[in-house]
Amino acid sequence: MRIDIMTLFPEMCEAFLSESIIGRAREAGYVDIRTVNIRDYAGNKHNRVDDYPYGGGTGMVMQPNPIYDCYRAVTEGGARKCHLIYLTPQGKTLTQERVRELSEMDDLVLLCGHYEGVDERVIEEIVDEEISIGDYVLTGGELPALILADSISRMLPGVLANEDAFTEESHYGHLLEYPQYTRKVDRWRLEQAVARTLERRPDMLEAAEASGELTKEEKEILDVLKDM
Ligand code: SAM
Repeated sequence: MRIDIMTLFPEMCEAFLSESIIGRAREAGYVDIRTVNIRDYAGNKHNRVDDYPYGGGTGMVMQPNPIYDCYRAVTEGGARKCHLIYLTPQGKTLTQERVRELSEMDDLVLLCGHYEGVDERVIEEIVDEEISIGDYVLTGGELPALILADSISRMLPGVLANEDAFTEESHYGHLLEYPQYTRKVDRWRLEQAVARTLERRPDMLEAAEASGELTKEEKEILDVLKDM
């Protein structure tokens, strides 16, 4: 799968996308994520990409032409058929189900807004879908785009060690995931603690058992140790 992120801050995105699981997945070629700087398509000598909103009001709005030209370059003049998602607090809230559906597509383009957002004509003319990551407002679409790219990438074959890693997780089905414990280490430590107490201070265990303080797990370990 290829994901192009159209942004005014590619370095911000690259910093995240080069690390950890996603960084390794990109290097291994399991996912092809690229960042494109919308400012490169400003088309004016001051590289301006924003403008005052029509009719006044606070803040600036991202102009449509740099976004159109950037998108045209990403889609190679329309030769590549892509699904363009605009990250916006006005979009449909992202769910794991939508992440799964999007992970089955081949070419996604994510548009990050900034300032007061993008000129409405962009949404009307080229955006296929508007996605929000929650009912709150951020300064830009970069974090939402990274959240989307991350959640999609980890569902692609090869990115995680095995499929169970996400099929057993919260929101994949109708259940949340079971509580996670670093079972071996915790159990081993508990076994050691019970064994040491039995060896050095059996009276403490007897007192705990009598007062009902001994947990079920400690009792199990104690019974095994006593049988040895
Ligand atoms: N004026 C816009 C409004 O009220 O709907 C908010 C613009 S916000 C300050 C700037 C950009 O951040 C948006 O264009 C969008 O790309 C991104 N953004 C902010 N909050 C978001 C959210 N909850 N989900 C997705 N994108 C968000």
